[in-house]
Amino acid sequence: MKVLVINSGSSSIKYRLFDAKDYSMLAMGLLERIGEPGSRLSHHWRGPTGEFTETVYDRRIQNHREGLMLVDSAIAESGILGSCSELFGVGHRVVHGGETFYEPTVIDAAVVDAIRKLAPLAPLHNPANLMGIEASLEHMPGVPQVAVFDTAFHHKMPPHAFHYALPSDMYAKYHVRRYGFHGTSHEYVAGKVAVHIGKPLEELNIITLHLGNGASASAIRGGRSIDTSMGMTPLEGLVMGTRCGDLDPAVSFYLGRSTGKSGEELESMLNHESGLRGICGLNDMREIQRLADRGETRARLAFDMFCYRVKKYIGAYYAVLGRVDVVVFTGGIGENSPDVRKDSCKGLEGLGIIVDDKRNNSHGDGICEIQKEEGSVRLLVVQTNEELAIARQTMQKIRSLNTG
Ligand code: ADP
Repeated sequence: MKVLVINSGSSSIKYRLFDAKDYSMLAMGLLERIGEPGSRLSHHWRGPTGEFTETVYDRRIQNHREGLMLVDSAIAESGILGSCSELFGVGHRVVHGGETFYEPTVIDAAVVDAIRKLAPLAPLHNPANLMGIEASLEHMPGVPQVAVFDTAFHHKMPPHAFHYALPSDMYAKYHVRRYGFHGTSHEYVAGKVAVHIGKPLEELNIITLHLGNGASASAIRGGRSIDTSMGMTPLEGLVMGTRCGDLDPAVSFYLGRSTGKSGEELESMLNHESGLRGICGLNDMREIQRLADRGETRARLAFDMFCYRVKKYIGAYYAVLGRVDVVVFTGGIGENSPDVRKDSCKGLEGLGIIVDDKRNNSHGDGICEIQKEEGSVRLLVVQTNEELAIARQTMQKIRSLNTG
């Protein structure tokens, strides 16, 4: 039994194929530049010895349907499946579930329609996710397909955390509220923490910091997200690769008036030209650290702003939770940057958050603890795996249908 996980962007398809027996990964790949010159599929597949081999397919791919056909033949050529129609199920990452979806949902025409209706809340994400879903339904009509929503884990936030202080009909009529994102990752790493510590999740208060190109923090009490830094869209909260994070809303109006930029242009600027890139011209944290270490002032400012914002959220969520057992670092930056972890915790010794430099600098794969013995809060570096979490949720959903 095999399950395929698809994360579709507007011009890309990322996928991972798992064996549902033990959730080992059989293949993964990235198809880029769909509908543009230079489309390219990089397909990695596991051979009989367990080693992964890369095969690259360079050919013009016009749309997501053609893209999935190519992925299907790449999987078949690597001998893993005869074709994707033999799959047990397909799990799709969907960014915004609004207030409609808060658990994995089997996709049919009505669900596609409902996801489309949520597009105004997530114009940069849901339409792109739908391109993959529709292509996949067309290409594998007999295979059960499940949507797993980034917002789902946060749906139990209390009203005082999810409401914005706006006129109340903005929520009632237009559904303006905090939804939160990266839920699959926050939930996955919190689950890992509980297993690692050997305590039930219900007894733990955890702050999870997903620090990648997109970045968000979450306050988790007893396995439930009670607050999170991203808002109605993934633009709010931490400083990100290209997104500004928290910003005085008046800045947008002021910039509209003084630059003459339209709403769409400003939205694009805040999403794609701001954050680390806006501050120093780069959004790759490795590069930024290298330049900051050499004394480049804009890179240093970008690094400092990133860590300062993370620290502010740790402090805020400490207050929200009242007691914190664990702070988790995950995502490309959280897992790989000792400097970011160290600076984000600097000055929090009074809260029992104390990084041990040696542990912090020498951590390897798997879960690592990086706190000093005398710290009362455990600081964990945990590798996230959103695709694996989606594969598991997809299988559980399909199995529950078959048994129920
Ligand atoms: P995405 O949100 O696109 O999934 P990732 O979680 O892969 O992003 O994180 C990408 C970020 O992780 C980039 O800023 C990259 O520079 C950073 N990163 C990866 N490895 C390191 C490292 N060794 N040190 C610092 N930053 C790193």
